Amino acid sequence: MLVLLRHYSRHESDVQTANGASIKAEENDLCNWDGLGFSLTPTDYMYLMKCSKGESAFSQGHLTPYGNIELSPSSGVLNYGQGLLEGLKASRGDDNRIRLFRPEQNALRMQMGAKRMCMPSPTTEQFVGSIKQTALANKRWIPPPGKGSLYIRPLLLGTGPILGVAPSPEYTFLAYASPVGNYFKGPLNFAVEDNVYRAIPGGTGGIKSITNYSPNYKAISRAKAKGFTDVLFLDGATGKNIEEGTACNIFVVKGNTISTPPTKGTILPGITRKSIIEIASWLGYQIEERAIPLEELINADEAFCTGTAITVKPVGSVTYQGQRVEYKTAEGTVSEKLYRTLTGIQTGRIEDNMGWIVEIN
Ligand SMILES: *Cc1c(COP(=O)(O)O)cnc(C)c1O
Repeated sequence: MLVLLRHYSRHESDVQTANGASIKAEENDLCNWDGLGFSLTPTDYMYLMKCSKGESAFSQGHLTPYGNIELSPSSGVLNYGQGLLEGLKASRGDDNRIRLFRPEQNALRMQMGAKRMCMPSPTTEQFVGSIKQTALANKRWIPPPGKGSLYIRPLLLGTGPILGVAPSPEYTFLAYASPVGNYFKGPLNFAVEDNVYRAIPGGTGGIKSITNYSPNYKAISRAKAKGFTDVLFLDGATGKNIEEGTACNIFVVKGNTISTPPTKGTILPGITRKSIIEIASWLGYQIEERAIPLEELINADEAFCTGTAITVKPVGSVTYQGQRVEYKTAEGTVSEKLYRTLTGIQTGRIEDNMGWIVEIN
């Protein structure tokens, strides 16, 4: 009820500002587009779809006002963490067209994760359709060109009641959206984490399971309290090789070679990672996917991270057991070149020859 009221009152205030001819002004007043960070701004609609008990597939979903959902106290997701998340962006280019970036890749990754977590998943068509609808229903929340994007967060949750440790009898897919800023507030300063491991061989590090994140809060808050932006995880098997950040993949540059750890189950196969590997090879770099000892990062010319939220972001420093190494982050870096190319394709400034862009106007 509270949610419905809040939703209603937001529309009421829009009506007040939308009087007469200035619908455009209303859209500009909606949000402080210049002050967007990566925090939640609730939008108008979310998408909901269910896979009911006894069914093996999701039936037709629908848009509904953004708000709270009702869950059984004994739902699989609340009791045993049976859930997956995804993340992708809808962006407005200088031509004012709205684009999604490789949404079918998010659909495929959710399907892969769903198999691992014994859940049914939406088909690629259902997934991409839901993302288009969510973006278009919240069109007024897509920031103006250059100001950011509409971040879309799909979830796949075991929502049916279950007491024993077993897959839930019912599932919910939902997608909500929030405008976010460009997230480019300086380079990353990593603290290498040599005490907490994010993933182990045979575990769930390679899928976007909701259970992969909160176990790291302690390490992250410890690092943040010391002024670092994020932690860099090492591999759980040997503690010698670099893996990734909290929600971003890492690349190391040495000469003309760009290396990144392989996605063999303990590292999240980022869609930005995959795209950057392709872009870097067209640009003539040598790409290596292999285990990277921490010393190699320490001796690198440059390092950068990739992810939907941050796109491509340079690593400014890495600190391991009190020793800090710094990297170049200014103009002329490899990461800057890759950032420009990737965001150029995402915003339509650079022609998409790869079929990565889905226009949804
Ligand atoms: C989501 C995520 C990434 C980045 O993946 P993208 O598809 O590029 O957004 C990297 N690492 C982890 C742990 C993640 O959750």
